[in-house]
Amino acid sequence: MNLSGSPSVEGYTSNLDLCLNDLETDYLDLFFMHAVQSETTLDAEYIKMGEDLKKSGKIRFFGFSCHHDNVPELLTKAARAGGIDAIMFRYNFRKYGDQKLNKAIDTAKAAGIGLIAMKTQGSVPADQESVSEFKSKDFTLEQAKLKAVWADERIDALVSTMSNLQQLDDNVKAASTPQQLAFNDFVQLNRMAAITAPYYCHGCNQICESRVDGKLRIADTLRYLMYYDSYGDREEARHLYQQLEVDERDSSGVDLSAAIRACPQGINIAQRMDDAKQLLTV
Ligand code: SF4
Repeated sequence: MNLSGSPSVEGYTSNLDLCLNDLETDYLDLFFMHAVQSETTLDAEYIKMGEDLKKSGKIRFFGFSCHHDNVPELLTKAARAGGIDAIMFRYNFRKYGDQKLNKAIDTAKAAGIGLIAMKTQGSVPADQESVSEFKSKDFTLEQAKLKAVWADERIDALVSTMSNLQQLDDNVKAASTPQQLAFNDFVQLNRMAAITAPYYCHGCNQICESRVDGKLRIADTLRYLMYYDSYGDREEARHLYQQLEVDERDSSGVDLSAAIRACPQGINIAQRMDDAKQLLTV
């Protein structure tokens, strides 16, 4: 259930009543607020709303998703605030070795929060991904990426986009086999992460956007570009891109040199913003 954008606690609860009515059900298993960005969202009023809704029987569990650069802070705050049962956050093989995130995952897990991984494919454009020539005797590349997430026992579940029956079949096979990734599979995934880093944006927008004059939303723009050229979700990518204001998405005349120097992934931000403009403008 996605109620992001509702303006207030009252907004969430009244929207929930509408949803229950539309769904012809008395309760939801998980009331889930999508794309939480600010730590202040997890304030006492919000946590109390979740507790009250659980007591009312309208929901069983309460949680949120997050995919911006403050995922570690949100995981940690949720663990301390209490009342959060599940969090879905960006996590894939590219995040191995991220100490700050790992510590936050440990904290959330210790607090009993259910952890759900999203953006599990960590995709970049296919022509870039194929450069690393991943080969496994047991798994396709897509299956190996899922297995890499499941290999982390702190993760309770993952989500994976499946746009055709072949992907569904591959995912079911990966989920149902006890076979684990071989050491060489992990080595290859790590190598791929390094080779394709300049095409994968981690969403750490504070790093680049704070070095640009104006309102440019680099991380969101590159995420929409990923929807277009990695997920093949072209209509949604264009729709989201055009929801941005022009000065949030158009980098014409903006000096991006400091942002490019600061990007930990080595992304040519100017080039990728131009790619987005070309591909996502109808
Ligand atoms: S472009 Fe680089 S610095 Fe900016 S959000 Fe993406 S990975 Fe982070």
